[in-house]
Amino acid sequence: MAKIIAVALQKGGVGKTTTTVNLSAALAEKGKRVLVVDMDPQANTTAGLGIDKKSVTNTVYRLLIGEKEVDECILRIEAEKVDLIPSEEPLAAAEIELHMLKNENLILKKALKKINDLYDYVVIDCPPSLNLLTINAFVAAESVLIPIQCEYYALEGLGLLIHSINLIRQRLNPVLDIEGILFTMYDPRNNLTRDVETQIQGYFQEKIFDTIIPRNIRVAEAPSYGMSVLRHAPDAPGAEAYRKLAVEMIKREKN
Ligand code: ATP
Ligand code: MG
Repeated sequence: MAKIIAVALQKGGVGKTTTTVNLSAALAEKGKRVLVVDMDPQANTTAGLGIDKKSVTNTVYRLLIGEKEVDECILRIEAEKVDLIPSEEPLAAAEIELHMLKNENLILKKALKKINDLYDYVVIDCPPSLNLLTINAFVAAESVLIPIQCEYYALEGLGLLIHSINLIRQRLNPVLDIEGILFTMYDPRNNLTRDVETQIQGYFQEKIFDTIIPRNIRVAEAPSYGMSVLRHAPDAPGAEAYRKLAVEMIKREKN
């Protein structure tokens, strides 16, 4: 059975997509079978894995509206050794279409159930909002990984996210847990970074990953080559950090 992890925070630009792509590539490098699901209409994960988002027809959107079966929507990304269910722009309209369907919160969960035993990890990149797409991810998932950028407004949105996770746990998915808080784009030279770090540690002690992702130019440029930083710059600090995160996550499973 796969462990299904939603990478989410409704605040934009905190490193959700970067973490989805690079953590998935790092888990695959460790020999894990990984499926990446791009639930964001921006389709940055799809592009970041080297897929031209205009060329795909079998997407998570088609899956959600019932036009396609899950196995028809899985693309093999041989270079990164992961599978991908890509996204496309019309997914932004899925919200409206999903509201007209029965059990509109459960569609992704039902689809993933069919392929659950083919993977060790399913990593879902969520859009920067708490909409029906994110709810579908939270209902399908076992846990939520929350990337936090250590900057002035870092805590913005975090309270609401935790509240939403609690609501989903009570009403729709009793097993949903917080996988962990991940500090991204970390710059130790910045005093503010350390303030935010201390503040979050106060709230979430044991939920914070030991691994910290540094701000690293190689991480930022990798998507323009359509590859993970592990492939773009295997020895870069960002690549090392995502490898370390994968190891930390695998270790946690064993404990
Ligand atoms: P959105 O909410 O729009 O989906 P996001 O949370 O998925 O955004 P990303 O797209 O992963 O955030 O990252 C935002 C920007 O920060 C991107 O340009 C990305 O390349 C850059 N970035 C992410 N992590 C790092 C890092 N460790 N070092 C340098 N740049 C980074
Ligand atoms: Mg994103």
